Amino acid sequence: MVLACEHASNHVPRSLGDLGLSPAVLESHVAWDPGARDLAVALSERFDAPLVASKVSRLVYDCNRPPDAPSAIPERSEIYDIPGNSGLSPAEIQARHAQVYLPFRDMLASVISRKMENHLRPALITIHSFTPVFYGERRSVEIGILHGTDSRLADGMLKDPARFGGFNVLRNAPYGPQDGVAHTIDVHGRDNGLLNVMIEVRNDLLTDRDIFPEIVEALAGMISGGLDFARQDAAPALNDIPLRDMEASCPK
Ligand SMILES: [Zn+2]
Repeated sequence: MVLACEHASNHVPRSLGDLGLSPAVLESHVAWDPGARDLAVALSERFDAPLVASKVSRLVYDCNRPPDAPSAIPERSEIYDIPGNSGLSPAEIQARHAQVYLPFRDMLASVISRKMENHLRPALITIHSFTPVFYGERRSVEIGILHGTDSRLADGMLKDPARFGGFNVLRNAPYGPQDGVAHTIDVHGRDNGLLNVMIEVRNDLLTDRDIFPEIVEALAGMISGGLDFARQDAAPALNDIPLRDMEASCPK
């Protein structure tokens, strides 16, 4: 598999100052997904899988958004205006696109294409966290398994609740593809015909040292089981594969 973490960092390059935000806001979920990078690293080690993680805050450029989305460089996030993002010139927008989005996109694309050149079909798994309280409302979902139009891996992960580790696991929650969050998994997963899923974990569970290992265990089990289910369902019967395709796909 290949792992990606678009909201891994709350770093704002010095040239942009503090974007007009207080240190407290820049530390909060507004600027990044707290705990997501730690989880992605733990899963990367567990599965010996490469991880591509952004090193810049989503407030500078949200790497899970296409360049034409207004939310790629948000002027407002939840209840906060982002003064440093308002009234940007086309050149300033272009610079962020070139300096943040393109390097992330190209690195992820190259990690995936190197595997595909070696006749591997990696699953793409993106790792995120969400805030327990949004617009004043407490969220009961603990782990969200999100998918776009290709739900094969998500279906597999959700097939066996015995693997949920006692956590409240829901499909496309606390939001879903209708909110424009499927950009990375669609472009790098679906469009390559690869199994893909976006995992969202409530961030209070990731910052709790006692619960964090339980989340890693539960997700590792769900991912392994999900890949088994998805690949079983996806595997064509041996007789259905023309001989020349079998030869072509045989690793050298
Ligand atoms: Zn995120």
